[in-house]
Amino acid sequence: MLNHLARQLAERDAQAMRRRRRVTETACAPQQHVSPSDDGGHATDPAAAPRELLAFCSNDYLGLANHPALIEAWAEGARLYGVGSGASHLISGHSRAHALLEDDLADMLSPHLPEVRALSFGTGYLANLALLTALGDEQTSIYSDVLNHASLFDGARLAKAAAYTYPHHDLAGLERRLAACRTPRKLIVTDGVFSMDGDLARVPELLALAERFDAWVVVDDAHGFGVLGEQGRGVLSHFGLRSERLICMGTLGKAAGVGGAFVAAHRTIIDWLVQSARAYIYTTAAPPAMAHTLRASLRLIRGAEGDQRRQHLGELIGALRGGWPAALAASPGGTGAAAATGGWHLTDTRTAIQPLIVGGSAEALAAAAALESQGLWVPAIRPPTVPAGSARLRITLSAAHSAGDVERLLAALAVAARTAGALA
Ligand SMILES: *Cc1c(COP(=O)(O)O)cnc(C)c1O
Repeated sequence: MLNHLARQLAERDAQAMRRRRRVTETACAPQQHVSPSDDGGHATDPAAAPRELLAFCSNDYLGLANHPALIEAWAEGARLYGVGSGASHLISGHSRAHALLEDDLADMLSPHLPEVRALSFGTGYLANLALLTALGDEQTSIYSDVLNHASLFDGARLAKAAAYTYPHHDLAGLERRLAACRTPRKLIVTDGVFSMDGDLARVPELLALAERFDAWVVVDDAHGFGVLGEQGRGVLSHFGLRSERLICMGTLGKAAGVGGAFVAAHRTIIDWLVQSARAYIYTTAAPPAMAHTLRASLRLIRGAEGDQRRQHLGELIGALRGGWPAALAASPGGTGAAAATGGWHLTDTRTAIQPLIVGGSAEALAAAAALESQGLWVPAIRPPTVPAGSARLRITLSAAHSAGDVERLLAALAVAARTAGALA
């Protein structure tokens, strides 16, 4: 066993495919104090010492992960409820803090989901396993966009349902599959905002198909909840949708800044999850102090501060998109905006996920290294996580960034593009 694993690990090293963790010494914020890997010393740069990096990696889109009011709420939650739940929800771990959080989440989604209830989870991965295994019985077919999050695929695989994948946004292909479906129940499953491309699912069209074919739509709003729509209600609010056929899953460790996740849906669905979802039943309830903190986070998200943070984030997104080719053109030796982009391009999206497609894996790694040498931390995402030939820098913006941070990023990208030979 050990020899076998060691060979496989060596193979990954040889292909520059070994993933490594880096240790952050400071709270989640744009300015990070980062140490190299501590898990076997396979840092790409062996000389790397702890250093200050300006990070564009986190999903803390509103900059709440280190918010003083939430730190205070966590301390208050710990004083009120202790730090551990002690048991699963169905034994004795379901505290008043969890119950109130679920009420708040249901209230927040109520414009979009009739007779809504919400169920809280320790992580989004668990929520998706719970949801798809509980609804995906032998009499159900599950249809997933090929770019959905891994947890949705794992949930579909673990479910007893027949699972199908349709090409990204391929509504016509999905329609053909739905028309051919022979099971009494059908689930269409989609990310709301796709995590590696930042584009939005065509939820109104998916819902129209669901109505035509008597299907249900599961929307994983991990990257939309808190950011999109009125009061940060997410992608359903962005599109102004309301239907009992919608099932909304959201995560609370991204824009909400804390951790955990929820499923919000018609109360009959939630009742069924509580009875039957193994990934809900057989796991210890998340710390009640976390649920208490999340209630404070939702108040921030829905209030004036949330509006300000969303507006600032929108301005940063505009500055990045508006400045990208111009930054290249203005850099020393720039030859004009159009020529300057040299095949590197931002995907067509206005969300906080702004991937810069650079092409090959080696090129993406070189680009990330060029940014790091300038003090910036932007992750390179390579196949198999993304399709071959579309390796990218996955830039994420946060309301915690300043306009100056985005200017620094643009200038560093221009240098990286030149170093990598993306410029004519
Ligand atoms: C992050 C993410 C998840 C998993 O949520 P966790 O709380 O991190 O486990 C699920 N779906 C999508 C689309 C995500 O981006």
